[in-house]
Amino acid sequence: METIMKQEDKTFEKIYDAKNFRNMGHEIIDLLADHLHKVQTDMTQPVYPYRSPEEELSFWQNDFVSETDTLTTFKNIIKHSMQLQHPRYIGHQTAVPAPVSILGGLLSNFLNNGTGVYEMGASSNAMEKVITDFTAKSIGYDSFSSGLLTSGGSLANLTALLAARKAKVPNDVWQKGNQNKLALIVSEEAHYSIDRAARILGLGDEGIIKIPINKDFKIRTELLNEYLDAARDKGLYVFAVIGCAGSTATGSYDDLEGMADFCQKQNLWFHVDGAHGGAVVFSKKYKKLVKGMHRADSIIIDYHKLLMTPSLVTGLLFKNGSNIYKTFAQKAQYLWDAPDSQDWYNSAKRTFECTKSLMSAKIYVLLKAHGLDVFEKNVDRLYESAHKLAELISGRSNFELAIQPESNIVNFRFIPKNTQNVNDLNSFIRKNLIESGKFYIVQTMINDTRYLRCTVMNPLTSTKDFVDLLDEIEIIGSR
Ligand SMILES: *Cc1c(COP(=O)(O)O)cnc(C)c1O
Repeated sequence: METIMKQEDKTFEKIYDAKNFRNMGHEIIDLLADHLHKVQTDMTQPVYPYRSPEEELSFWQNDFVSETDTLTTFKNIIKHSMQLQHPRYIGHQTAVPAPVSILGGLLSNFLNNGTGVYEMGASSNAMEKVITDFTAKSIGYDSFSSGLLTSGGSLANLTALLAARKAKVPNDVWQKGNQNKLALIVSEEAHYSIDRAARILGLGDEGIIKIPINKDFKIRTELLNEYLDAARDKGLYVFAVIGCAGSTATGSYDDLEGMADFCQKQNLWFHVDGAHGGAVVFSKKYKKLVKGMHRADSIIIDYHKLLMTPSLVTGLLFKNGSNIYKTFAQKAQYLWDAPDSQDWYNSAKRTFECTKSLMSAKIYVLLKAHGLDVFEKNVDRLYESAHKLAELISGRSNFELAIQPESNIVNFRFIPKNTQNVNDLNSFIRKNLIESGKFYIVQTMINDTRYLRCTVMNPLTSTKDFVDLLDEIEIIGSR
């Protein structure tokens, strides 16, 4: 009986066969390398093969029930996706992953070490400590600091604010539930994940105190005292202030030194959302943008934005490392012998995730392959490149910059003479531009004005690409 079964069903032997893996792997790497070469050199390749959601869905519904070989399936997925490697991808803030990090991701998937407990991620937990220590040092934190890697800036912001509440609110909310009306202070321009985190913490509308911004889109630091007093008069217990190190819409940096002074004086937790722009800590040239950041109690930096790493890897750094362990203090006897001890090598004690991918590998292999200054080179290249784009925009009389960019985010619009509705014109331009597949850029509203928005993410995007982009916008806008 047994022998008959073995002969008949070889399904799993085939699925896990090393030779099949090798052949398929070679084919797929060849496919990806050919594709990479094509999008880097042939500008007629679409950046984004625009289809409506309905068309896209019907393609996949048909494909799902048809016979397609594996290689064709891979080809189809590539063909139907955004091409971040294309130098004319100048859209959202997602990294163009370095090829070696892509392979690090493959390795992470292969090993699939869950990382939560030491044995399920020995190398992973140790590399995570090396990378977060390296990042903490670049921030200017001392040896009391500690960090962790987690799945994205949104989760990192939530985790930081949980730690803040634990450290600053006298009542133990984790054990006893909310008893005070808690609140935090943040700029109007903060990323929506802060608002979400605050609501998950149960703060509600009243508990999210938004401070107006100045003409440079930075928090008006001089108003902090007044808003804090007003909140206290209303019976709110303010426990944290959040600074933007790179706001989402314009990439503007808040006055972190001024905010740190305020928090120190008022004994408030200071958190810096550096998901995007915190990466300048690696750059000698641009580090001045985050002056005072090392005084923050917690900081987040996304490696999958300015740091060439495939999604999703975020660093969450604490000035005082022991705060990390207090956030999720709870008993999980089956995982840990000593739930109360502060062991860096059991990742799940410090992060929201239970199973966590071997994410440190993607960053570690990048730094080993290209040197510890590769982050600095990338940040410098992207910021300089964006400043070049801004200069080209300023040089054309029928274009207008929203503000002089501090980072690699450039907002601008086309304003030819005698145009009635400039907002509609710029929406029209953007729609036609992305449908043409020639470029991918996004758009945003700032004070009821529609702007075209470019985030320069690809270090291979050239001045010629920018000139061609502006020419193309003029052509579409003059139709
Ligand atoms: C991108 C971003 C986030 C969210 O990070 P994810 O990794 O996308 O979850 C939060 N804050 C800022 C300022 C960001 O730019």
